[in-house]
Formats: sequence, C-alpha cells, structure tokens
Amino acid sequence: MIPFLDLKALNAQYRDELIAATTRVIDSGWYIQGTEVKAFEEEFADYCGSKYCIGVANGLDALTLTLRAWKEMGKLKEGDEVIVPANTYIASILAITENRLKPVLVEPDEATFNLCPEKTAAAITPNTKAIVAVHLYGQISPMPELMQLAYKHDLLVLEDAAQAHGASIGGRKAGSWGHAAGFSFYPGKNLGALGDAGAVTTDDEELARTIRALGNYGSHKKYENLYQGVNSRLDEIQAAMLRVKLRNLDDEIESRRNVAEYYLAHIDSPRIQLPAVGNRKSHVWHLFVVRSVHRDELQKYLAEQGVQTLIHYPVPPHHQQAYKAFSEMALPLTEEMHRSVFSLPMGPHLTPEQVSQVVEATNLL
Ligand SMILES: *Cc1c(COP(=O)(O)O)cnc(C)c1O
Repeated sequence: MIPFLDLKALNAQYRDELIAATTRVIDSGWYIQGTEVKAFEEEFADYCGSKYCIGVANGLDALTLTLRAWKEMGKLKEGDEVIVPANTYIASILAITENRLKPVLVEPDEATFNLCPEKTAAAITPNTKAIVAVHLYGQISPMPELMQLAYKHDLLVLEDAAQAHGASIGGRKAGSWGHAAGFSFYPGKNLGALGDAGAVTTDDEELARTIRALGNYGSHKKYENLYQGVNSRLDEIQAAMLRVKLRNLDDEIESRRNVAEYYLAHIDSPRIQLPAVGNRKSHVWHLFVVRSVHRDELQKYLAEQGVQTLIHYPVPPHHQQAYKAFSEMALPLTEEMHRSVFSLPMGPHLTPEQVSQVVEATNLL
C-alpha cells in the first residue's frame, strides 16, 4: 500500500539529529521557556520574514490567542464580524467563535479553494473588522489583493498559515503578509513537531507582547497578571526538534513540489480534476487535492490498486453539529467541494516508483 503520509519514514531521516536535540534538552534540566524556544522563535521569524515569533501550544491556540490579543488591545470587540472561507478546516472558525466574534462564512475561489478578493469584498459590512485568510492545502491566498482590501476598509488580517509554511508571493512568505499569522506544527503539517506545537508571527511588537502574556497566564512578569490568560506554551523539547525540522523544510518543500509537478504533468483522466496552481513558489503542497463527481467510487478503486487517499474535509463546518446555527446557510460551492474532493498521497517521503504507481492507477480510471 502506498501510504497517504508516512510520518515514521519522514522523521526517521532525522533520527540522529532529533535524538541529539532531545538529549540536549533532557540534559539541560530546563524544559519550559528556555533557550531552545527562544532560538526556534528567532529562526522561524527569520524564515518567514517577520519581526516576531511567539511559540504556543498548537495551531488553534495561535489563532485564538491572536484574536484574543486584538480584543485586549481594543482592536476587536465581541460580536465583530470576521470573514473566513467557508471550506476551511474547522479550527479557523473555532478561533473566531471562542472569542465571541461572528464568523462570516465566504465561499472560496473555485480554482484555488482560497478566499478571492471579489467574494471577500462583497461580504464586507460596517461590522466587519477582520479577515482570516486561510492558505488551504499549502497554497498562499491572494495576499496583495486581500491586504489592499483590508487597508481600504481598515480591517485586521490574520493568516491561517497552518498548512503553508514557506509558501510565498513575490519572494514574501506566508506569515509576513497579514497583521499576524497562526502556524501549526502538528506532526502531519509540512513543518511538524513530534507532538503538538504552534506559533504566531507578526511585525507588531505590542501584539507579540500581548500574545506572549496571554499564553503565560496573562503575565508579562512573574506573579503579575495583566489578563485572565491561559497556559499555551511551546515546549523546549518540541522547539529543539522543530529546529532540526526547520533546517530541512526547504528541501522537503522541493520534494513535495516535484511530486506535485509529476502528478500535474502525468495524471490524465477525464474523471479527475487537477488542482490549479499559479506560481511554483505560491504552493508548498501540504495536500494534493483533486476533485471528482465520482469520488467515492474512485477512492475505493484506488484503494484496491494500493493507493491510500483521504478526504480533506468530508463535512463542511456549517454542517457540523458544533455549528448547527449555520446549518441553513446556502454555500453551494463549499458543499460541492466537500462532496468531490479527495487527496492523493503527498509528502517528501514518496519515492519516484510510488509516485508513478499513483499516476498509473489514476490513469486507468
Ligand atoms: C491544523 C490546522 C489548524 C490547527 O492546528 P493544530 O495545531 O492542530 O491546533 C488550524 N487551521 C488549519 C487550516 C489547519 O490545517
């Protein structure tokens, strides 16, 4: 079976370096907020081209704490509208509702699965105060146009870059476009820890300070609590491993691009719609998502051919029990996408033989 993603094989490449990194932390006797987190934060901010990086416990917290910080700073208030793509992974929306802000679900661009400037502009009302731009499947959103729109309407922009570490437009990377960006380092993400981890990047010093305090019981200074904060910190041991993984991220992205380009050049089936991609640098191929009206049948057939596929995501957020208040919303494009999308094996671990086997299987369809 060609596995969809083989994390064991992927991390095995760095086994010695990962063991050296964890050993360094074990032997240091310092496990929370020490030198590894500080070094990783600097290295990741530098990688993204942003001034500050704040390590947090996971990607959902990165998004939630950023919106929360904007509330503490008086830039957002309860009930403000936040535009978010309707077809995103539910975490983008959970971060909004956790802060008692109002998610405004907007249909994505048909070709890229991301927000487009036109539909976003049409959703802006006097109550709109922010946009969560999700770089879904690893392709960066049209940030120059979205930032221009945000500037015109005085909106905050939070990039949900959980799937798009390293994606860029004109040499400028995800995480450096918006007023802030949330990243996840969940093990299966393109930059994956060996457990939960996340970070926020921003150029805004006050925001960085506020998020750091919020994630540390609301405290800037030991035993002084400015906010009713939470405990959301990046562990030293995960930061040490992330430093190893970050050094190899660009090579892994290159491998993913090679797999994607092979798929795009060689998959030729009337029953499969391939993903649209602009500039090579704009996509880091967290997922290779194709569409078919015969999805269920094709998935079953590919499984018989030894090709594992997954669905990202089978149920749109507005049809989840958690968001039953949105169940009556008409989002036909989002719904159609959830009925037709499925993801082919993708990752730096795939061998050329495996990639050509996937192509052969799909071309029999
Ligand atoms: C993974 C993911 C998150 C959440 O990250 P966690 O680290 O799992 O909390 C948020 N948004 C998107 C788009 C994601 O893919």
